[in-house]
Order: sequence, then C-alpha cells, then structure tokens
Amino acid sequence: MAKIISIANQKGGVGKTTTSVNLGAGIATLGKKVLLIDIDPQGNATSGVGINKADVQHCIYDVLVEDLEMEKAILKTEIDTLDIVPATIQLSGAEIELVPTISREVRLKRAIDSIANKYDFIFIDCPPSLGLLTINSLTASHSVLIPVQCEYYALEGLSQLLNTVRLVQKHLNKDLQIEGVLLTMLDARTNLGIQVIDEVKKYFQDKVYNAVIPRNVRLSEAPSHGKPIVVYDPKSRGAEVYLDLAKEVMVSV
Ligand code: ADP
Ligand code: MG
Repeated sequence: MAKIISIANQKGGVGKTTTSVNLGAGIATLGKKVLLIDIDPQGNATSGVGINKADVQHCIYDVLVEDLEMEKAILKTEIDTLDIVPATIQLSGAEIELVPTISREVRLKRAIDSIANKYDFIFIDCPPSLGLLTINSLTASHSVLIPVQCEYYALEGLSQLLNTVRLVQKHLNKDLQIEGVLLTMLDARTNLGIQVIDEVKKYFQDKVYNAVIPRNVRLSEAPSHGKPIVVYDPKSRGAEVYLDLAKEVMVSV
C-alpha cells in the first residue's frame, strides 16, 4: 500500500512542482514505484516529466469530474518506476464543477484507493490555492509536505494552510499528518536565507528536513527539457540535494 503525500502551499512559486517532480523522480531512481498526480490546472508537473499536454487523452479532470477509472489516466515516464496522472487546463473548471456534486471532497481519495497497491509512494502536486482540489488532495493523503521558500515573509500564509489541515483532520481525514517542511531556493550568498531557516525551524522544529534546496540554475532549466533533474543533470547540486531529500523521506515513513 502506497504512502500518499500531498505537496501543498497555497503560495505560488515556492517550489511545489519542482519538489513533486524531483522528489518523486529521486525516490523512483532509488528503486521504489512512484506515482505523481498532477492536480494543478497549470499542468507543470505533467510537462516537467516530459508529457506533451496537447497529446494527453485522459487527465485527472476526467477522473474527478467524469468518474473515469484512475487506471486509464496513468501514463509512463522516461524513468521506469515513475508514472504520472497528468493535468491539463481542462482541470481549471473542476474547482467550480465539483461544487454541486456528491462526495465532492473524497473523489480523489476513491480514485487513488483503486490503484494505491501498485505503488510505494504517491505524490500529489497541489495548485496554489486552498480550494476543492487541495481539499481533495489532503483528504486522500497520509500526510502533507510543505515547501517554504527562503525569503522574507516565508511563514506568511502558513497559518491558513495549517488551519485547512486542521479542518480536513476534523471533518474528512482524521489521520492526516504533517510529513515535513522543506526549505527551498536558498541563496547561500545572503544572510537572509540563514535567518529564514532559523525562523522556520523555531516554528516547525524537527519537522524541517535537513536537506535544504539551494537556488540552482539546472533545477530551473530542467522543466523546459521535460526532464527531472536526476535525468537532466545528475551531477548538479540540485540533483544531489533532491536525492538527499528522497533518502530522508524514504527513511521517515
Ligand atoms: P510552485 O509549484 O510552488 O508554483 P515551482 O516549483 O513551479 O513552484 O517553482 C517556481 C519557479 O521557480 C519555477 O520556474 C521553477 O523552475 C523555479 N525553481 C523552483 N525551485 C528552484 C530552485 N531550487 N532553484 C532555481 N529555480 C527554482
Ligand atoms: Mg506548481
């Protein structure tokens, strides 16, 4: 049975997609079977693993809104042990279309239940909002991994996210845990990054991963080649640190 982890933070641009793709690919190259589920209408995780969105026949929208079997939406990637359920812009309608439907918060959970035994890890790349798509993800997950960018106001908005986690625990998924907090885009040349690390550690304590993701040009280039960093440039600093994170996540489950 897979460990199911949401990658969530309603702030955009904090490294959710980069982490979903590269943590997922990292664990996959270490030999585990991994499924990445893209539930962001922007579909950046989808293109980030080399899927051309124009060629996608079935996406997560069909699963959530049209009751398509999850199995039929799963695609292979260039890494043998890494599969993806893609998202396309069609998904942008789901947030509204789901509102009047029966069991709107548990649709993703039911879909995942049908395939969870085929994987060791399932990562869900959430959109930058706390709407129904993110609620579906948190309801379907054992835990949530929160990327936090090393910048001023890093902690801003996190109380809203934690409040949403509490609401989901209360009403939909009492076992939901905080898996960990990941510091991203550290610029080692400034003191600011170090201050932010201290501040986030004070707040989240041992939930903060030892691996801190640096700003790394290769990480920002890899998506335009449709490749996870372990494939695009396995010797880069970005690849090394995402592999360190992969090992940390694997031992903690
Ligand atoms: P989110 O999914 O939270 O919106 P992304 O993962 O898409 O955030 O990251 C936002 C942008 O920053 C993307 O262009 C991505 O390529 C870039 N980026 C993310 N992490 C890093 C990093 N560690 N170093 C350099 N660029 C990064
Ligand atoms: Mg994203």
